[in-house]
Amino acid sequence: MAHQWRGVLREYADRLDVTDATPIITLGEGGTPLLPAPALSARTGAKVWVKYEGMNPTGSFKDRGMTMAVSKAVEAGAKAVICASTGNTSASAAAYATHAGITAAVLVPEGKIAMGKLAQAIAHNAQLLQVQGNFDDCLDIARDLAANYPVHLVNSVNNDRIEGQKTAAFEVVEVLEDAPDFHFIPVGNAGNYTAYFRGYSEELERGVSTKLPRMFGFQAAGSAPIVTGHVVKNPDTIASAIRIGNPASWELAIAARETSNGYFGAISDDKILEAHRILSAEVGIFVEPASAISVAGLLERADAGQIPAGATVVLTVTGHGLKDPQWALRAADGSDVQPTVVPVDTAEIAGVLGLAKATA
Ligand SMILES: *Cc1c(COP(=O)(O)O)cnc(C)c1O
Repeated sequence: MAHQWRGVLREYADRLDVTDATPIITLGEGGTPLLPAPALSARTGAKVWVKYEGMNPTGSFKDRGMTMAVSKAVEAGAKAVICASTGNTSASAAAYATHAGITAAVLVPEGKIAMGKLAQAIAHNAQLLQVQGNFDDCLDIARDLAANYPVHLVNSVNNDRIEGQKTAAFEVVEVLEDAPDFHFIPVGNAGNYTAYFRGYSEELERGVSTKLPRMFGFQAAGSAPIVTGHVVKNPDTIASAIRIGNPASWELAIAARETSNGYFGAISDDKILEAHRILSAEVGIFVEPASAISVAGLLERADAGQIPAGATVVLTVTGHGLKDPQWALRAADGSDVQPTVVPVDTAEIAGVLGLAKATA
């Protein structure tokens, strides 16, 4: 059989806690494209690359951590996993649990998760409950259930999740043949920020890279506990994947920022949507709103004169645009985009397209 990418546990078995006794539960996650983004380079003067995590099997980076968490859960004899989720964790947990032949129970904030993600969790046969509270309430209950009932927690407070997710940094270093100068990333629970920092730190220790990137993390302005320094009781943003008021990996993230000379910033929803349009229309990469905050953060920091010309910058875009596509149909002025309707008539359509008939 021809070689194909084998998923992160097999590809990085030497750098993860997997043994011959670990059942490898994989859907082929990881190995995602790192794409140059000339339009963003032109706007900022930096060399900008985009790590396109929407290309994972369930459409978000969560799959890297979930392959590890579910494999270790099955190794430990678990018959059921549980998680709280803003959407993507539930989709991923549902898919990996089903693949492993075990049950996934997921707790999501009522009415607050994107349709595509809800559909995925249900399609993959999760026991999905909408909790009448926010994400932080869901996580408290999931932790409580895992402590007192026979269910295995697969949120990013489970270190196996962070371990699996650190492989994205390995892939970046492999392609660039060193770490970048800056890494920009959305921050919700700050698990992924922590995971990239760990991955880059391990690459530096192994001697395959020469530096740690400065880790730049971004939260939505209505949901920015790490930036403001206090828990947000009712987090509010259109970027549902990062609508989190009390991040689980808060302290680890602060330590990672300090060691990497990094930064945390807050971005308004309007700026997130503007960046979403730029990434879709100028680069050709379609993401969900939370992911666009990496782009918005870069543009904001470049405007502030904080990104030296020629610096190598990697942006992680965390989730696929098809999960939460409605934002693409909203124009910059807030109006709905309505595609033009035309009759079945070549000449008329050519006119609407502004095409002049070819002569000779
Ligand atoms: C989970 C998620 C995030 C936030 O990641 P954390 O590890 O919670 O900081 C960002 N974007 C998307 C699309 C996500 O699914």
